[in-house]
Amino acid sequence: MLRTRFAPSPTGYLHVGNAFSALFCQQWAEMHHAQLLLRIEDIDSNRCRPEFSTALIEDLQWLGLRWHGDIRYQGEYLDAYRQALAQLRQLQVIYPCFCTRRDIQQETARAALAPHSEDGIAHYPGTCRRLSSSEQQDRQQTGQPFAWRIDIGQALQLTGPLNWLDENGQRHAVSDSLNDAVIGRKDIGFSYHLAVVVDDAAQGISHVIRGNDLRASTGLHRLLQALLKLPTPVYIHHPLLCDVHGERLSKRNHAPSLRDIRTSGGSADTLRHMLLTGGIPTPPIWRGLASVSK
Ligand code: GLU
Repeated sequence: MLRTRFAPSPTGYLHVGNAFSALFCQQWAEMHHAQLLLRIEDIDSNRCRPEFSTALIEDLQWLGLRWHGDIRYQGEYLDAYRQALAQLRQLQVIYPCFCTRRDIQQETARAALAPHSEDGIAHYPGTCRRLSSSEQQDRQQTGQPFAWRIDIGQALQLTGPLNWLDENGQRHAVSDSLNDAVIGRKDIGFSYHLAVVVDDAAQGISHVIRGNDLRASTGLHRLLQALLKLPTPVYIHHPLLCDVHGERLSKRNHAPSLRDIRTSGGSADTLRHMLLTGGIPTPPIWRGLASVSK
């Protein structure tokens, strides 16, 4: 059985960009006679709020999204993420990182040519990867807060060369120049990257469908799957909905929320039609939506 999922984070009201993503998943599922599951990615207790979870379910129902089975809330599976982190520790492919944001900025400024990820974020300069195990222990014992980072070089040595498959059947190699990303956050204990691979496997997801902004993370997800001996889905990254200036629609640039459109009398049918037939990511959609929300 083919299975995909829509996995929003309840950090605010869903906006039209999220609606496009949800409908893209639904349309793919209908075309392929696949199941569409809904997962609420609410592990970030600093940013996620239960009222936004409730709101997003109502808004998706209004939009006409239909999902299969029960909703999975990440907050109910924290033990599974802790176990996955423990497995990575046993494999010795993660290391404690004591750097503050400021330490990292200073270090990357010093190494002016430090590599950047596809998403433009400067790579972690590797400061704590070079700590000896006694230094690591000493600092842990003093109670200094730390995150867990993956040692990409070490991890790839263990797994051997890896690749992942996109929707066109094209293979992408997992590069050894990936960033040593945070797998266990200082504040909540684990990261989105770890939770997402654990959940996709637990839910039997055959096709991950998500926005192009997450494409740069797929190599890391493939690597985590190999380390944790989890199956690898096919990845489909859809284009992001943009505004008239070509900027990605997001909360920050005031993309209209489904709630705004709904409470101001907008029609879900019109919105759905525009998002699915408008051709993306072209400005006319945005103009059309602005009139829907009025
Ligand atoms: N929760 C993520 C978001 O809202 C999506 C994660 C994914 O689809 O892998 O951007």
